[in-house]
Amino acid sequence: MFAATILTLYPEMFPGPLGISLAGRALAEGRWSIEPVQIRDYATDRHRSVDDTPAGGGAGMVMRADVLARAVDAALDRRPDVPLLAMTPRGRPLSQERVRTLAAGPGVTILCGRFEGIDERLFEGRAIEQVSVGDYVLSGGEMAAMVVLDACIRLLPGVMGAASSGDDESFETGLLEYPQYTRPVEWEGRTIPEVLRSGDHAAVNAWRHARAEADTRSRRPDLWERHGGARIHPPSGARHEKKDR
Ligand code: SAM
Repeated sequence: MFAATILTLYPEMFPGPLGISLAGRALAEGRWSIEPVQIRDYATDRHRSVDDTPAGGGAGMVMRADVLARAVDAALDRRPDVPLLAMTPRGRPLSQERVRTLAAGPGVTILCGRFEGIDERLFEGRAIEQVSVGDYVLSGGEMAAMVVLDACIRLLPGVMGAASSGDDESFETGLLEYPQYTRPVEWEGRTIPEVLRSGDHAAVNAWRHARAEADTRSRRPDLWERHGGARIHPPSGARHEKKDR
């Protein structure tokens, strides 16, 4: 079973949206578990302080390394076998590849930041993987932790309806997924592309692959470059394909 431990100042936020729909059903079925841990339980003063003013001045408060280290060490003692992540915009961007590896393991421990962030010495003193969910700033790490968990949980065995339903998805092949359509066949004068109604599976696959490539190239040139597509199809081909669509 995939076991998640969340170190947070707001344990009551969990499971939150992860208690609903696909993830909620999987939780009820015992396919994964979650243990939110109150970081304040590791404070030692009578005010249960976890933060202090930033060294060097400036706005806000910073989470203390000593308090967080006690919380992290207790989590490591309990679950030395699972990766330890901290959510921070300064971390490595989360990828589908990392999500797959995490989901294949026994679980994860996630440290959620608040305020202006975490005393940097914690990351020097402990082996913690710093993870970002994108180039924007959230008010706390809890939502980011939920993103990590949601992405992992849907990949756990038995959670998604059809075992293969994740294989074609965006990022799994290094490309964005092709566009999807469903009934009605005509809506506001727009029809589902003819090929998708043809019943010709080879033609459908070819169309989907071409659209996945074209959309990745135009929407996410960074992904396309990493995929190696820029070398396979030179820019002149890109212009050609856009005109054909
Ligand atoms: N002052 C920090 C900075 O500019 O990098 C931002 C702190 S943010 C207000 C508070 C907490 O939210 C962070 O410590 C982190 O845990 C979480 N957080 C915010 N944005 C995030 C992101 N893009 N990815 C992961 N965690 C994030």
